[in-house]
Amino acid sequence: MLDLRPNCECCNKDLPPDSTDAKICSFECTFCNDCATDILKGRCANCGGELVARPRRSMEKLANNPAMTERVFKQNGCKPPA
Ligand SMILES: [Zn+2]
Ligand SMILES: [Zn+2]
Repeated sequence: MLDLRPNCECCNKDLPPDSTDAKICSFECTFCNDCATDILKGRCANCGGELVARPRRSMEKLANNPAMTERVFKQNGCKPPA
């Protein structure tokens, strides 16, 4: 199952499961649209993979398949991949 992480790894912005502002890589590293576009230029800060729009999970599915609550956040901000 896809991890639905609760926040952007770069700026700690909240990204709820129904957000249209979330981008993920194939490893489910999660960023907001602003960081993904302006800072990372569409590439994951961790693995260099492409960032795509995260699909949303409907509320009825969330009841049995809840989003993750553990926040992943880089204290020092993030940089585009080398
Ligand atoms: Zn962000
Ligand atoms: Zn990644």
